[in-house]
Amino acid sequence: MKKNISFPHPRVQIADVIRRIYKTGLTTTTGGNISIREENGDIWVTPARIDKGSLNQKDIVCVKKDGTIIGPHNPSSEFTFHKAIYDTRPDIKAVIHAHSPALVSFSIVRKTPNINIIPQARHICGPIGYANYAISGGAKLGEVIAAEFSKGFKSVILENHGVVLGGVDLNDAYVRFETLEFVAGAIINARTIGEPVYTSDEQIEAWESQIPADLPEMNHADHSPDERSIRESISELVRRGCDQGLMIGSSGTLSVRWKEDDFLITPRNVPLWEIGVEDVIQVRDGKREPGKLPSRALHVHARIYKENPHINSIIQAQPPHVMAIGVSTAELNVRVIPESWFFLRDVPKVEFGKQYDQTGTIANFFSPTAPALIIRNDSIIVTGDKLMQTFERLEIAEFTARLMIMGETLGEMVPMNQEQIDEMIDKFD
Ligand SMILES: [Zn+2]
Repeated sequence: MKKNISFPHPRVQIADVIRRIYKTGLTTTTGGNISIREENGDIWVTPARIDKGSLNQKDIVCVKKDGTIIGPHNPSSEFTFHKAIYDTRPDIKAVIHAHSPALVSFSIVRKTPNINIIPQARHICGPIGYANYAISGGAKLGEVIAAEFSKGFKSVILENHGVVLGGVDLNDAYVRFETLEFVAGAIINARTIGEPVYTSDEQIEAWESQIPADLPEMNHADHSPDERSIRESISELVRRGCDQGLMIGSSGTLSVRWKEDDFLITPRNVPLWEIGVEDVIQVRDGKREPGKLPSRALHVHARIYKENPHINSIIQAQPPHVMAIGVSTAELNVRVIPESWFFLRDVPKVEFGKQYDQTGTIANFFSPTAPALIIRNDSIIVTGDKLMQTFERLEIAEFTARLMIMGETLGEMVPMNQEQIDEMIDKFD
């Protein structure tokens, strides 16, 4: 995943990513380290023993090809294994190592997550390697990790320790990390609330071959003021979705109807948290804005707008707790509290693969009293009039799934009964 802009200085990239990892609770102040290798062989790396919460770009150390250290600190004590990975894999230009909670949970029970739980994870993370335990900072750890990378893995679980991810650049490694942690968390929560349901390789291949070709390009996009303001609202809410933990960078699509069947939609191949106003793509008269690649979900969104004149915005996302339900035998029960039922109504779950069904099955699920739908092993689609209303529904869906999962460990959940639901309908509808 990369954007068509020149990357900032490695120091800036590393400081940004470590801040993001710390802010999202995916490392402690001491755990984890990040590096970037330059074409000339120099490696930029996070320093040893510096609090991750206050680290800034001036703290990032450069280890020259000849071993000279430049910077105010010593390099991370785990630098040896970063170097061992680069020596083994010329294609890898950035490495992230973290002690993130869901993946460390897998490492302490000595398992690797089955990435067939979310098809796009297989594509992003690839098969997962497993490195046996060796003491941190020692040469042995470098050897066992490099041995896994030499088999072609880009994602490796470290026994009783954490995870290491490689990438062609830091964004690529980060998206892989975030996706794998997400998958691990989804499996853990799916086991709390039900039984995980995995997709087969055949199902994934069938799904991939169904994705329609891109729309033809239009000559010129029409950037009228109303179009500009839709761009602004999409870019603002997609960032907010990432900050609030409702979306991960590698997956999710937002769109807003502009006029009639024309709409604006988020791109693919750009991490969601990086989407700016200029990245949003106009779709007009069945054509796309020139030079830009829209989300692969475009055809689903187009169909939903066509079949549902009342829908003016759509968010398709993978909030972690909703997805625990989405990848398991459990159902999202919105009858837990009035707010959930009132905003979402009953949320059906359809089989994986339905999203690219050209008969429009997905589009016909929606109505003014059925604004949301879960696609198994894929995503939740929420719809609404204004984008903010749709976003609010997404938040409530995640909140509902979260409280169902938390309640599961306490006792048997008792939903509101039909009489209580009818009472709400009489009062508010
Ligand atoms: Zn470590």
